[in-house]
Parts: sequence; C-alpha cells; structure tokens
Amino acid sequence: MRSEKNYFQLFSNCILVKGANRATINDLQRNDLFIISNQFCDIIEGLNAKLPITELKKEYSQEDIFEIDKTLEFLESKEYGFFCDIDDFSLFPKLDTAYKSHCDVTNIILEKESFSLEKIQKTKDIINSTLCESIVILCYFKIDEDQLLKITSILNNTTLRSLELVIPYNKNIDSEALKRIRNQNTKLSSITFYNSPDEWNIDFNINLFSVSYRRKNIDDFSFCGSVNKKDFNVNKEKFLESLNYNSCLYKKLAIDRKGNIKNCPAFKNDFGNIKTINTKKIKETILSKNSFKSVGLINKDSIEVCKDCEFRHVCTDCRAYLSESSNIKSKPLKCGYNPYNNTWFQN
Ligand code: SF4
Ligand code: SF4
Repeated sequence: MRSEKNYFQLFSNCILVKGANRATINDLQRNDLFIISNQFCDIIEGLNAKLPITELKKEYSQEDIFEIDKTLEFLESKEYGFFCDIDDFSLFPKLDTAYKSHCDVTNIILEKESFSLEKIQKTKDIINSTLCESIVILCYFKIDEDQLLKITSILNNTTLRSLELVIPYNKNIDSEALKRIRNQNTKLSSITFYNSPDEWNIDFNINLFSVSYRRKNIDDFSFCGSVNKKDFNVNKEKFLESLNYNSCLYKKLAIDRKGNIKNCPAFKNDFGNIKTINTKKIKETILSKNSFKSVGLINKDSIEVCKDCEFRHVCTDCRAYLSESSNIKSKPLKCGYNPYNNTWFQN
C-alpha cells in the first residue's frame, strides 16, 4: 500500500555509489549490496536531498511514476529506506563518512624465507610501537610445529587482534598440533597451508579460528592482487576506508623476504631494511615520509576505470599489479570487471 507521506529517504547506513551504467545501494549495517539503475540513483539522491515526492513526479510520465512508486515501496519493504515527513530528516542525521584509525600501521605483511626469530622480534617491536592490529606471516620454507610455537609465542602480548599464517603443507602438523599452536596464541585467526595434496578446511569450533588447505603453490608474492566478486565486502570499516583512502595500502607495512620495508612485498622500492633500522623509531623515520604514505592516499575515486565502477568501495584495490605498469592510478591488472558494459572477463 502506497504511503501517504510525501518524502522518502535512505537509512543513513545505506550509501549510494554511482557507476558509469548503474549504481549500488551499500547497506553497511547488514553487509548487503543492491544494484539499481543510474536513473533511479538520481531519483533517490533528489529525495534524500528533501525533494517532495509530488515535486519529483512532475518531471516524469505516468509510466515512470508507476515504476518510481513500485521501486520506493520495494526499497521500504527491504528496509533500505522509508517514507517520511519533512521533519523526520532532522531525526536521521547522515552517516559520518570519515575514516579514523588510532593505529599508525593497521596491518603488516611479513614474508619469511627461512626460520629466524630475530626478524619476528623486530616485527614485534614495530607492531607494538605502531599499535598494529593484524599481521599475515607468509613462509616460503617448510616450517614445523616447534618453530611455529616459537613464532606465535613471541607474538603474544602485542597489540595484534589477528594473526594469520600462510605456510607450506606439512603432513606432520596434525589437528592436535594445530590446537597446540592456537592455544599458544589466541590471536591466531587462520592458518592456510598451500601446496597441499588436496583442498579442505578444518573446523575446530573455535571462534575466530580457521584452518584451510589449498593445492596452489606459492613461491613469491605474485599470487596476490586478484579482484573477484566473491571477495566484495560491504563492511562499514572497509567501506569508509575505501571512501577516504586506498583499500589495500592505507597504513599497511610490508617486510619482504629479504627484510626490506615496503608498502607491499610486490613493490620495487623500499624504505630500509629491518636488520638495520631502529624499529622503535619507525614512525619518525619511515611512516611519516610522504613517499611512504602517498600510495595509501590513492582512493578508488581517483583510479582510472574504477572511478566509474559501482563496486568501487566494496572491492579491494591493488597498486602492485597495474593494467598500465607505469601509471600508478591505472586499474588493477587482475580485475576482469568492465563497469562500462557490466560484464566480467574470466581469465
Ligand atoms: S573495476 Fe575497479 S572498482 Fe570495479 S571491481 Fe574492478 S577493481 Fe574494483
Ligand atoms: S598492493 Fe596488490 S599485491 Fe600488494 S598487498 Fe595489495 S593487493 Fe596484494
């Protein structure tokens, strides 16, 4: 039944993103994405700006008005928005879209090509001095339970909220060993075994802990940077980060297999080596440099092609593998989506 109210607004957690051909409503509360036409996106933007529905309809044919009514009712039924009175706008303030993080580094990627605790100890200093919340440790060498226990033990008592391990398959690390490793550090959120003879997952029924086995081998960082529909994430924090900054590299720090400090392990340029820098002064000596920060400030609205994509704030970005290698603002190489005809190229 059509509402008698003459205004309509989206809930403040539902954000419109307009692309070249079509748009999305991004529901940041329910982690949900809904595709609409650009014409309807314009209509909702007008209504959100307090245009009365009766005024809006003057611009449209009877047939269009029928469609507008139908779609607004649909959006209300799905709780993306609601019919309201003019006074109701002040009761529903717009979402603050600023992105704030108290950390100097939010996430670290650490590559290791051999076992040494010195690099882990120094990484721990960086974690604590930057209030870093998550780390992915990627090992290129065969690592055993004892070595994993030593690493996870050192990374106890840090600011980390999540620790992910990506390691080669080792048949000697069985379920009991995995439990012992997880018990050593409860921030351990996932272990991924690569080069596994088969693909499977283990569910330990432990909150925020997963173990997976994957066939694919990893011998360098070239596996990273793919953009896939299945990885779209309508998470409020990630969405706001993407609106304001680079969704992969903002406040990211990488330590590559040789110990070089970078924005990403696949980047060529580095900012010193973990063996020689004073890790406790990394904020002053590296993180505050414009040359380090600049890539993290490239958001999707400034990237070619992506700026016309309706998914630009729910996909990840990649500045290492580019469609034009000498253009830092070109589209990610490993994305097959064309926002101008809305098709995915499968490679
Ligand atoms: S075109 Fe750009 S914004 Fe769109 S899905 Fe691909 S990488 Fe993301
Ligand atoms: S820039 Fe690309 S390769 Fe580097 S971490 Fe991000 S997605 Fe991966």
